[in-house]
Amino acid sequence: MPEWSSQPPDEAQNYGYRLIRTPAFKALRAIILSPDLMGTRTHYTKGRTLPCEPINCEACAAGHPWRWHAYVAVLAGDQKEKCILELTAQAAEQLQEIIKGYGGLRGIEMLAERPSRRPNGRVRIVGHMNGSPPNALPIAPDVKLLMLHIWGLDDRLLDPDLAKKPFNAKHLTEKIGASLPISDSAST
Ligand SMILES: [Zn+2]
Repeated sequence: MPEWSSQPPDEAQNYGYRLIRTPAFKALRAIILSPDLMGTRTHYTKGRTLPCEPINCEACAAGHPWRWHAYVAVLAGDQKEKCILELTAQAAEQLQEIIKGYGGLRGIEMLAERPSRRPNGRVRIVGHMNGSPPNALPIAPDVKLLMLHIWGLDDRLLDPDLAKKPFNAKHLTEKIGASLPISDSAST
């Protein structure tokens, strides 16, 4: 059934989010929109990152290693560009510390940098609560839906039968927690 509304959709529901990583040479300043992290296992295959399928994963079968990545919606830089920031487990653990301190991520002003200045160098994140109240920020987008779009898996949103098949939201919603991969931190 279509969902009707008299208002155009809020921008946060559109796909105007760009996927970014922590740059090597310049610190990334951003305000976090998401209340929490969303993470999943991913593979780097065929020149791009794609999620690991929980069942019958082709990349796993081909012997490709997986890495856990977390995603969080932010307003990045002075332009406050709407972005999805991709973080490795090592970086995500630092956001987890911020969650412990502040009770959530929304409204946190963060600074992420790679002290080694290498593209895959370890990421250092510091964060503090921004002066502006969280309800003055744009609505936090659904990061899981945005990532399905970025990964080109929208068909799973449109076809309810496909959505039930191996690639399911349960795997995507796996939050940071007990199953952080140990091997990731060295290369981050
Ligand atoms: Zn896999």
